[in-house]
Amino acid sequence: MGRITLDKVTKSFGEVEVIPPLDLTIEDGEFCVFVGPSGCGKSTLLRLIAGLEDITSGQIRIDGNDATNVPPAKRGLAMVFQSYALYPHMSVRKNIAFPLRMAKMDQAEIDRRVENAASVLNLSDYIDRRPGQLSGGQRQRVAIGRAIVREPAAFLFDEPLSNLDAALRVGMRMEISELHKKLDTTMIYVTHDQVEAMTMADKIVVLRAGHIEQVGSPLELYRNPRNTFVAAFIGSPK
Ligand code: ADP
Ligand code: MG
Repeated sequence: MGRITLDKVTKSFGEVEVIPPLDLTIEDGEFCVFVGPSGCGKSTLLRLIAGLEDITSGQIRIDGNDATNVPPAKRGLAMVFQSYALYPHMSVRKNIAFPLRMAKMDQAEIDRRVENAASVLNLSDYIDRRPGQLSGGQRQRVAIGRAIVREPAAFLFDEPLSNLDAALRVGMRMEISELHKKLDTTMIYVTHDQVEAMTMADKIVVLRAGHIEQVGSPLELYRNPRNTFVAAFIGSPK
């Protein structure tokens, strides 16, 4: 499960319409990347899907159900925050378990989910350490672990690697792609980095000033960019 549909979704902040009417479907299990220059509305669109911002008009459906007025915690989606959002005084285990403890889940079920997430993320050997004793990549994986334990219908990432140095970014890119294969779940990934978009995506959504310039696979956009904006962004000649 994890099909997300946006139907004529708009968003205005005061008088300013930052998302004009926008239609988009993200298929179940798809790795969908929102790409575009700074300020084009990538984060806003992700936050609308997450429910962290209310849409101004239109409809959002998740697995066929109207989610437009459903609060964020009930949408079955998990936003992955950057690694600095970890609690420094808590172990890896407690950091990963945190959202489940907040939800007052049964302890045996918490243990099962945390151990499973740690195993999927190759964090089992570090589970009793604190964030300060981990590398940047390991901390990023703990942040992802917190999303995994909620067993969401989709993961939402907003530039999760922008804080990391170039070498680590390459590694984490592969880790997230690998995770997508393992979990077989919908992922929406926001980036302004063309290389991330081209190497990770099943489907790329190219945004410009809040509207969609083009949607397609990396190869489709590369071979057949609709205009010079897309071509310039994807880095192919037109
Ligand atoms: P991106 O993530 O692509 O850099 P954003 O979604 O953050 O872009 O921003 C899109 C536009 O919406 C920008 O013009 C930004 O200034 C505006 N914007 C975003 N959030 C708010 C807000 N809370 N209030 C007013 N304007 C906002
Ligand atoms: Mg942003």
